[in-house]
Amino acid sequence: MNAVLNGVYIDGEWRAGHDVLEVINPATESRLAQVSVGDMAAVTQAVDAASRAFAGWSKSTGRERGALLRKIAQGAREQREALMHLQSSNNGKPLFEAGIDVDDVIATFEYYAGVAEDLDAGQDRPVALPSDEFSARLRREPCGVVGLIVPWNFPMVTTAWKLAPALAAGCCVVLKPSEVTPLAELQLARIIAESGLPAGVFNLVCGTGLAVGAPLAADRRVAKISFTGSNAVGVQVMQRAAETIKGVSLELGGKSSLLVLADADLDLAVELACGGGFFNAGQMCSATSRVLVADTLADEFLQRLRARAEGIRVADPFAEDVEMGALINRAQYQRVLGHIQRGIEDGARLLCGGERPADLARGYFIRPTVYTAVPLDSALWNEEIFGPVLCVRSFATDDEAIALANDSDFGLVASVVGTDVESAERVANALQAGLVWINAPQVIFPQTAWGGYKQSSIGRELGPWGLAAFQEIKHVIRSN
Ligand code: NAD
Repeated sequence: MNAVLNGVYIDGEWRAGHDVLEVINPATESRLAQVSVGDMAAVTQAVDAASRAFAGWSKSTGRERGALLRKIAQGAREQREALMHLQSSNNGKPLFEAGIDVDDVIATFEYYAGVAEDLDAGQDRPVALPSDEFSARLRREPCGVVGLIVPWNFPMVTTAWKLAPALAAGCCVVLKPSEVTPLAELQLARIIAESGLPAGVFNLVCGTGLAVGAPLAADRRVAKISFTGSNAVGVQVMQRAAETIKGVSLELGGKSSLLVLADADLDLAVELACGGGFFNAGQMCSATSRVLVADTLADEFLQRLRARAEGIRVADPFAEDVEMGALINRAQYQRVLGHIQRGIEDGARLLCGGERPADLARGYFIRPTVYTAVPLDSALWNEEIFGPVLCVRSFATDDEAIALANDSDFGLVASVVGTDVESAERVANALQAGLVWINAPQVIFPQTAWGGYKQSSIGRELGPWGLAAFQEIKHVIRSN
């Protein structure tokens, strides 16, 4: 790709921006594309267009909006291969992982198409009152123009989780992709442009956080910001949004646990530990980077985990037998290596990994890394590393494991592995996390919520909660 791609789509038109950003392939460190990106002026124009379009779009029926969402899902299905290739080359994730992302995007648009279609029947529902003198009805109305700000680790998926419910609700949108990974979203935007959505309903402004994200969060006309990213930026978004009392939904960091109970199937536990730690090269807010193992199983588990982790094929995302790809960029690569070094200095014991694979001269690759004996007050144990790094610790009782898992500023997800279903369910109920998997990989359905306790989130995405995030509640009461 040599031409500069237009990274600004406003009022149904592709536009050049004010600056050009380079997009890198993290597996080769070479330039993948150049994207012309926007600034504050583009944000203002995008919000202008969205505000104009809102008058009509907010009055469309759920059935009409559902039909358009189905077209977007169909467009993504037809372009599945192209989207996968863009995602793998821009993000460094193996092609099979990119396929899971695209399938999730399709499923999310289809789910919210159904949700939108069901809205019409529920609108103006009567509310039972304890009085014959008055009658009341309930309306759910779109909250207005919304700003969607997304990160680089699951860019298309995060976009779909915000965009599909926002459109289903009848909101008009300004989307800001990550400046690191705009390519798949640009392709998704082309699909949306061809779907027949009225001009101005969907607008996209690529660019940096300061040039685009910050003015979007500050714009008085934007009713709501839905943000996924780091806690540090989440705080800044909240501060800006506070000035105009904007609603915010935040999906932030995590430090989640996988609990291997005393009766666990060890092969399953090892597979789930590797999936929770090394999928997307560990760059997951939902990474179960704390692995808590019943002390009766610990030695055997560590032996098997080490063998499995050392056998994971780290390679170019397009290699046939690749199991783990590259980290996103040089900054993240160095950050993770810094954490690995600091972990050793803090007294943790490195079981395996901790360095780049010897056979890969270029690209931001790090071998799957496992630590034991990690001090409870270390950064490795408490902070989100966002790389392929697991910390394993043993426990004597389930209650001790629950306490260790809950001892965190975050509370996004957790996994439990155990044969006795009742015990596993009891442990799941005691964990402070928005989603708990039992004996299951990190499967996500549009029907179940995404988000967590404590500093991991404000609000929930997906399911009816994802839609409600973009709706206002209105009651109309009249005298009979
Ligand atoms: P980031 O916070 O650096 O950036 C996220 C987005 O915010 C990007 O589009 C960025 O350009 C924009 N941004 C940056 N500064 C801004 C500002 N001042 N105002 C408005 N927008 C601004 O995060 P990242 O490095 O892209 O992604 C990694 C982080 O995302 C991790 O901390 C991870 O835990 C989190 N994450 C959370 C979830 C979840 O669902 N909870 C999912 C994925 C990623």
